[in-house]
Amino acid sequence: TQPLSEVDPEIADVLRRELGRQRDYLEMIASENFVPRAVLEAQGSVLTNKYAEGYPGRRYYGGCEYVDIAESLAIQRAKDLFGAEHANVQPHAGAQANAAALYALAAVGDTILGQELSHGGHLTHGMKLNFSGRNYNAVSYGVDPETYRVDMDIVREKALEHRPTVLIAGWSAYPRQLDFAAFRSIADEVGAKLWVDMAHFAGLVAAGLHPSPVPYADVVTSTVHKTLAGPRSGVVLSTAEYQKKIDSAVFPGQQGGPLMHVIAAKATAFMLAGTDEFRDRQQRTISGAQIIAERLMAKDTADNGISVLTGGTDVHLVLVDLRNAAIDGKQSEDLLHEVGITVNRNSIPFDPRPPMVTSGLRIGTAALATRGFGDAEFAEVAEIIAAVLTPGADIDALRARTAALAGDFPLYPGQEEW
Ligand code: PLP
Repeated sequence: TQPLSEVDPEIADVLRRELGRQRDYLEMIASENFVPRAVLEAQGSVLTNKYAEGYPGRRYYGGCEYVDIAESLAIQRAKDLFGAEHANVQPHAGAQANAAALYALAAVGDTILGQELSHGGHLTHGMKLNFSGRNYNAVSYGVDPETYRVDMDIVREKALEHRPTVLIAGWSAYPRQLDFAAFRSIADEVGAKLWVDMAHFAGLVAAGLHPSPVPYADVVTSTVHKTLAGPRSGVVLSTAEYQKKIDSAVFPGQQGGPLMHVIAAKATAFMLAGTDEFRDRQQRTISGAQIIAERLMAKDTADNGISVLTGGTDVHLVLVDLRNAAIDGKQSEDLLHEVGITVNRNSIPFDPRPPMVTSGLRIGTAALATRGFGDAEFAEVAEIIAAVLTPGADIDALRARTAALAGDFPLYPGQEEW
């Protein structure tokens, strides 16, 4: 019954300082967000004490009557939110959801075809050191070298060449929408199953502001903590045909006891993702990214060699191309940190610099939209970023501007500690 601050002051201090950091900096890492207090409450709850191997009504442990309610609610809400025939809400994280998808759709040694990691794909889509690259024969398609977009003719060519068992659509760093109908038709043409990983854009899909992959894919995976703004975790959606395979791929295929406190928090997050407030937030997210992209393509930044990949964005992120700029990805990440903006450097397609340096920046707007930012605030953020990326920036003056924005939109107001 003793509070954390008494039991473990060192960890309590980490929490206090991290809360301060989240409040003081403008969070623009495209894969991050702020969960509402309700989600934190569910996640930091007594449900963490419960073992519940199995599924609702079919558990290997006694005493599951209440956690069954939580998991059934999470399943039903995920299905309703995305219009899916089946949902498995047990994956501990996105990588586990993706492992389950591959486990259900392919046999070890089968060929899988996904978006090249250095062109915006994810580790779990076939990177050679990841389970996906070690257990499967992973091949990839890249973006078009002129447009930097996923070109369905290239995808089709690769699919015809390699005849994959699983065709993968989805990305971690790509600013445009994918053509799911075209992916489906290529999958059908080569006899592949279609898996869509919508981890990044799931919130936009839930809000109806991005096409849904659910009508086209055999399996759709997602994280719950990016644009969806729920607890750090994963989810798998599928057609009824794959229900059994997906469930057994998650448990007992690769996980033990589900994290019932996280599943309860997922249920709350899926409910909130169906609200008008959530839709408005996703709208501000996309609009903010478009404002930043436009600003970074203006004459002054363009004259300094800065450009925006694909000439804009349809989603919650902007990919800045610094190949012709005076600063690289690492230097810009560090300078932005100095003025109070957190982003991550990112390799861009055909990047001449190594992955620890890079020639790109990935800038996301989801977390600031959650904080309440609208067009006016994103326009100010865009001015600050443009100033930081061009030579001669007045760091102290820019730091004061980010502090003013952070002060105008308090995070978790009234909360002394967490
Ligand atoms: N899939 C995509 C497209 C991602 O971007 C990520 C995370 O960055 C993941 C899966 C993995 O999620 P997690 O970090 O929760 O394992």
